[in-house]
Amino acid sequence: MRLLRLFAALLLTLLPTACGNLNFYSEEEEASLGAQAYAEETGKYPLVTRGNDYEMVQRVGRKIAEASGKPYQWEFKLLKADDVPNAFCLPGGKVAIYTGILPITQNEAGLAAVMGHEVAHATERHGGKRMTQGNIANVLTSALGAGLSLSEMSPDVQQGVMKAFAIGAQVGVLLPYSRDHETEADEIGIRYAIRAGYDPWEAPKLWERMAALSGDGGGPAWLSTHPASLDRAENLKQKIPLYLEQEKGWKPKQLAPSVTGGNR
Ligand SMILES: [Zn+2]
Repeated sequence: MRLLRLFAALLLTLLPTACGNLNFYSEEEEASLGAQAYAEETGKYPLVTRGNDYEMVQRVGRKIAEASGKPYQWEFKLLKADDVPNAFCLPGGKVAIYTGILPITQNEAGLAAVMGHEVAHATERHGGKRMTQGNIANVLTSALGAGLSLSEMSPDVQQGVMKAFAIGAQVGVLLPYSRDHETEADEIGIRYAIRAGYDPWEAPKLWERMAALSGDGGGPAWLSTHPASLDRAENLKQKIPLYLEQEKGWKPKQLAPSVTGGNR
């Protein structure tokens, strides 16, 4: 038993790296949890349903969604919250933009950078991976506390127990992602923005604006889940030329020749 506890403690410390890509959740389960959390979170604010900003959010959202190639039930809501500089995309393609982030994104390409990043979290299924880590951590913590032996349960029961600990509580609307997930979302997000026809050089500029804002202590809410640093801007600056080259020939899936072309 002592050995088991030692093992559990060791796993807890290694969790973020060891389990970064482990995911107990199916895409359907993630989407269902995402939809629940979306209704909850977006219900807290009045919706903006017309006007230039609303049109921009719909336009950018549709283009980024198409660029991701994911057949989600996409939704793009603009929440009237001028004092909340934030944005997120939940599993299953549920996007929310708070009006408070628009002065920071400044233009359509800036919004595309934020949306590309958030959508990449969803398409890479970081939410399910993060919930899985949370589940394992919870189960290990309680196993440590109660002296329970997970190894005595069947794998199915283990997985059920782990899920039960987190469902509903950790869908991850506003929880921070790991640094690996952040970098991945930065890089895939910028590819989406390129495919959607936006200037990718707006992304490093956005990160520089964010970094400048975080200097005064508080900083935007988006920064609590997305620590801004000039390193992020630098990383993107180095990769954008390569991505521009690689994404040159990208075409939306529904325009593939097999769909539109005849076969005579
Ligand atoms: Zn992020």
